[in-house]
Amino acid sequence: MDETVNNPSMKKSFGKSLLYALPMFLITFVFITGGKPDFSDPAGTLAILATFLGMNILYFLMHYTGKTDKFRAIIFIVFALSLSFTLIRNMLEIRHSMSFSQADIVECKIPFCHLVIPMMILPAAFTKSIIFPGTILGGFANISSMAVLWLVATLVLGRGFCSWGCFYGGWDDGFSRLRKKPVIKKISDYWRWMPFAVLLMVAITAALSLTPTYCSWICPFKAVTEFEQVTGMESAAKAGVFISLFLGLVVILPVLTRKRTQCSFLCPLGAMNSLSNKITPFTVKIDKKACNECFKCVDVCPLFALTPEDVKNGKVSIFCSKCGKCVDACSRKAIHYGIKGIPAGSMKKFSRNIFLFVSFLFIAVFSSGAIITVIKSIFNLFI
Ligand code: SF4
Ligand code: SF4
Ligand code: SF4
Repeated sequence: MDETVNNPSMKKSFGKSLLYALPMFLITFVFITGGKPDFSDPAGTLAILATFLGMNILYFLMHYTGKTDKFRAIIFIVFALSLSFTLIRNMLEIRHSMSFSQADIVECKIPFCHLVIPMMILPAAFTKSIIFPGTILGGFANISSMAVLWLVATLVLGRGFCSWGCFYGGWDDGFSRLRKKPVIKKISDYWRWMPFAVLLMVAITAALSLTPTYCSWICPFKAVTEFEQVTGMESAAKAGVFISLFLGLVVILPVLTRKRTQCSFLCPLGAMNSLSNKITPFTVKIDKKACNECFKCVDVCPLFALTPEDVKNGKVSIFCSKCGKCVDACSRKAIHYGIKGIPAGSMKKFSRNIFLFVSFLFIAVFSSGAIITVIKSIFNLFI
């Protein structure tokens, strides 16, 4: 008999789950406290403790319940909100405003974000210069650390970065969960190719103009981070585009469709990450022998990564972010986390355990600083 039919659950016993959670517990303790806990600041200590415990409880629950997506989403969404909060706080402390002026651009006082990477590559290759005016801003978001972190995460997780690493993805992920049922059900799968068109457009326009065109004109997340001071028609038009795209693609459409529409239809880095899915060791596999073609996985996928044809062919597309939603939804466990080289349907628990450990480590490392800062600020209000 097939393992999926006999053993459909990824649940573990309480003791076994604790055992699986122990390495994460130790690693995150060393990472979050730097190995030397400092108890002199009560708000800081409480924030570290809350972040550390919260993360490890979520990781434990992934093993104990056998479910992934809902626990991943909690940390992913909190990460996105916390990052915007800390970024805005930094802007206000250092520049005294969320908007930046031409002088700030000249003085390179603009924090760097990974979405700039697709625009930097061509100009950097041909002109040997970085076109983004970013630098270390109060030790925050500098170019080299962001690029290295993104590169390592992308090589290991592929587009898994878009559910386990990116500090923006939690915004549309969060809004896509607000309604239980979608209002708009039919959206053509062709739209999932749109980010490749955006990628091509921003790469060419950035190379020709030697300016980060996506940041200057299109990025919806300018609405919740930093934006150019409105001083005339052009800057007003840019602000209008940022706010409209944020409201349309990050808030309204995700609520109406239950899909991550910004990440699915616009983000050029998402397109690059999709390509990197080709080279990463982790994947999501479909065991055709166990699948009854109910297409529940297609319905729940927030990134249009699955079509009925993909399921019939037994292949998840390159758009998959390894969020785990389809894996959790499939009652036959026919779709599952896998490792390249291991056939679909085999070693499902082993593959999931390894993937969860690696991907959770990434999100814990990426998010803990911002989450601690936010919790500390909240505690400081009361202490
Ligand atoms: S598609 Fe873009 S914004 Fe969305 S999670 Fe991926 S990198 Fe982040
Ligand atoms: S939910 Fe499971 S059984 Fe249904 S189509 Fe998807 S993989 Fe097959
Ligand atoms: S195919 Fe599954 S794991 Fe991949 S993005 Fe869609 S729901 Fe998430």
